[in-house]
Amino acid sequence: MPKEKLLKIAMLSAHSCPVGRLGTRDTGGMSVYVLELARELGKMGHQVDIYTRVHDPADKVIYELGQNARLIHLRAGEDEEIHKLAVYPHLPDLARRLEDFRRENRLHYDLVHSHYWLSAWVGRHLQKWWRVPHMVMFHTLGAVKNAVGVGGREPELRIKTERSVVSSCQRIIAATEKEKEDLKRYYDASADKVRIIPCGVNLDMFQPIGKRSAREQLGLNGDKTVIFVGRIEPLKGIDRLMLAMTYLKDGHRPRLLIVGGGENSRNEVERLKKLAVGLQIQDRIEFMGLIKQPDLPLFYSAADVCVVPSYYESFGLVALESLACGTPVVATKVGGAENIIRHGQTGYLVADNEPSGLAEKITLALAQSDNNKRLASVMRTSLVPFRWTNIAEMVARECRDLLVNGTAD
Ligand code: UDP
Repeated sequence: MPKEKLLKIAMLSAHSCPVGRLGTRDTGGMSVYVLELARELGKMGHQVDIYTRVHDPADKVIYELGQNARLIHLRAGEDEEIHKLAVYPHLPDLARRLEDFRRENRLHYDLVHSHYWLSAWVGRHLQKWWRVPHMVMFHTLGAVKNAVGVGGREPELRIKTERSVVSSCQRIIAATEKEKEDLKRYYDASADKVRIIPCGVNLDMFQPIGKRSAREQLGLNGDKTVIFVGRIEPLKGIDRLMLAMTYLKDGHRPRLLIVGGGENSRNEVERLKKLAVGLQIQDRIEFMGLIKQPDLPLFYSAADVCVVPSYYESFGLVALESLACGTPVVATKVGGAENIIRHGQTGYLVADNEPSGLAEKITLALAQSDNNKRLASVMRTSLVPFRWTNIAEMVARECRDLLVNGTAD
């Protein structure tokens, strides 16, 4: 097979729509990943169809996403937003409709690339029906989430499904060495099935904007500013960041912007607002709600430091995006943080989200902020390996390798 074989890929993102509202409870980094990867593979000449569940009656069946990349909505259950776990009973329906769509449109795929355990359930069936290889990216793992023990427990059903997919699929893409180790430790994955490919960042969308101008555009004064961006859920450790704020000296206490949330995160936002009142820092915290991704560079640029206080991340796109906008990051050593941040230069790593440790590193980052153009350029240069084009090339290489060396039973 020639090295440059162009591929036809069925990509599955069953529960989370790649063009859904980012920052809501179930829609975040994975949707960004699927969309950016599909677009880049499409630009390279591969044909990518992403299949997802209809979650809004207004959804069209087919959306063109760019060159050679499409998003296809299929009905599975009612056409409404439901909790991701509630998607599970509709997966057989989704698989059948996908197969009907494929036949009606005379489509043929070289392989299935599924994202998250729910899609992997569907992918496992398509792999058998079509006799093609199945490549999986789990994004997060149920057993690891349960080991962390923060937030609700992941059901046994998830872990059972993940275990069975790990054994039946032909290849697993892990975003970090740690994820590979977790796959081996909790799921008995064989090491040669797993390939490590990091996640990416869109350096054209995420660019620095002058701090003063960004703050003016957001109606902020000159106060030092800390930002959190992401889905609002306990695993993100936002409460730890709020506690860290109380360690920062009163006179110099920065403001904290919290970006993300949405209708289905209302309870968690309420819990955090009450905590802010309890900690008497409510005047220094603003909950900004969901911000559309193209507007985020303004927020990252307005901030002096972005904090990622998570207990667990599969990778953590927010850290990449912040650095791309020239804003240093303080992050716990989870997900891809150690690969993304140059400790002491582009930000700081902390062993865990213990509030006093976070506060210490936030203080250091705040002291060295102030529109350092040279540092911003160092940060952007450090991100070149994470361009989506590079990531897509690595994924395409794995796909080709699978077609040559993999078995599809
Ligand atoms: N995001 C957004 N608007 C928001 C909050 C988050 O566009 O209001 C995006 C953010 O830009 C990032 C993604 O959501 O690309 C979150 O990804 P990350 O990998 O940091 O976290 P995950 O969702 O995977 O836990």
